[in-house]
Amino acid sequence: MTNGNWYDAVVVGAGFGGLASALELSRRGARVALCEALNYHGGCASTFRRQGYAFESGATLFSGLSEEQLFGQWIRQHHLDVTVDWLDPLVELRTPDLRLHVSRDRERFLAQLCALPDAPVRGLRDFFALQQQVANALWPLFDDPSLLPPLDVRALLRHAARSLSYAPLVRWMGRPLGAVLERFGLPRFSPLRTYLDALCQITVQCSAAEAEAPFALAAMDYYWRGTGHVRGGIGNLASALAGAISSLGGEVLLANRVKALSPVPGGWRVSARRGELLARHVVANVLPQGMMRLLDLPPERQPSHLRALAGRVSEGWGAVMLYLVVRAPEGASPSAHHLELVQDERSPFVEGNHLFASISGEADTGRAPEGHRTLTVSTHVPLSALASRPGEEQARLVSTIQDRMREGLERLAPEWMEEVRHAMTASPRTFERFTRREGGAVGGVPRRAGLHHYRTPSPRPVLDGLWLVGDSVFPGQSTLATALGGVRTAARIATVR
Ligand SMILES: Cc1cc2nc3c(=O)[nH]c(=O)nc-3n(C[C@H](O)[C@H](O)[C@H](O)COP(=O)(O)OP(=O)(O)OC[C@H]3O[C@@H](n4cnc5c(N)ncnc54)[C@H](O)[C@@H]3O)c2cc1C
Repeated sequence: MTNGNWYDAVVVGAGFGGLASALELSRRGARVALCEALNYHGGCASTFRRQGYAFESGATLFSGLSEEQLFGQWIRQHHLDVTVDWLDPLVELRTPDLRLHVSRDRERFLAQLCALPDAPVRGLRDFFALQQQVANALWPLFDDPSLLPPLDVRALLRHAARSLSYAPLVRWMGRPLGAVLERFGLPRFSPLRTYLDALCQITVQCSAAEAEAPFALAAMDYYWRGTGHVRGGIGNLASALAGAISSLGGEVLLANRVKALSPVPGGWRVSARRGELLARHVVANVLPQGMMRLLDLPPERQPSHLRALAGRVSEGWGAVMLYLVVRAPEGASPSAHHLELVQDERSPFVEGNHLFASISGEADTGRAPEGHRTLTVSTHVPLSALASRPGEEQARLVSTIQDRMREGLERLAPEWMEEVRHAMTASPRTFERFTRREGGAVGGVPRRAGLHHYRTPSPRPVLDGLWLVGDSVFPGQSTLATALGGVRTAARIATVR
């Protein structure tokens, strides 16, 4: 660490928002230090070790891994030692009455829906045609960050050339996905409703009926946009990115929690566990409430847009987790796989009713003993449900949810629960302790229908030289989106540096 020497930028936190910012700044020749409180990288998208086992901490299935997409490009350009396994099916949805395989081929998936009893085939085909148009309009913005604001002349010309492709989404801006389903006569076709409620809950973080239609229609392509499994765990990609930052001359400082940020002439003083750093810019990969804590400002001096963003984050979710080591059932596929389990499709897809269970593959060596696999299982809990309860009652609610999760696994994925060798749990409190996310808030701002989502797409500093990245800022809400936000912020800093 260079005490007293100035950095162009200090990045606080090595989640995917911070890793992406630090990598992009280093690629652009900036002198960068990346401080991470934990002794491993990745935050909510990391792989942690306990008692000889290795689990995904939160995120388990990643898009953007194709060669032409952001992660794929980084893997190729920086020769990252990362292997992607392309799974098929990507996910299996199970309810007491339904089994749906989400295959890599969208036509095959659609054919499966159309072949279900009483399927409204015409409506389904028309709905998926619109969905594809909207996804084709929006996903290129994810694949090429320069198409998002601030726009230069080249980007404006490219948008003008694609302007017709935006027409199908304009009609649905500010309206819920539920209205699109009505339009195509689909709201009562329960297999599609169940699939969409499950997908919306893990992507745009609310039910299909509430979700902002263009975001939800684009999120439906999530499984078909370079989506795969990072062999060995997502932590491998996170540490490979940290390695690339170091190769470009950046300093990656693990176990170096940042305690405070204070303005000094020409930049910022970053007070961290292992000493002080001075930087022209600080990029904080924290929640807005974390930024306010690091600034230690009295309420009347806190930037109002930061306070408003913190409010929207706290209207969202925490995660309740099970981490299991289980014996692989006889004849189990050797590849990693993902199960989405819904116990009752008429109840909200939260609090143990809906589970996302990710199972490691045989090739994920070192994560579980031979013949065994690790499972990372998550469900949503509304932060408001926790905040309104005293500590003891919160713990009781979390434990009830974890019981419900175990019941769901035993009922809908019994083959994986025959021999549980090891079990651990986590709650929003655990996320708060490890990732320092206030209240354990994860998943960003829910994208419920409204035009306000389109208001703040351009990265702007919170205060002069101080920037916020992570899943609470646009485009947020997945490992890829968070990384993309980090790249855009770094590009913006490069223009003002
Ligand atoms: C249960 C769960 C399942 C998910 N599933 C998926 C999925 O399958 N696919 C997907 O793409 N996304 C998924 N997500 C979302 C994805 O994980 C997040 O959107 C993304 O990882 C968030 O990254 P981030 O950079 O915003 O923050 P974080 O991952 O929270 O990273 C912030 C980092 O900053 C560090 N930090 C905080 N404060 C300080 C400080 N003061 N000093 C130093 N370091 C600090 C933390 O330790 C942490 O490492 C999931 C999330 C959860 C919780």
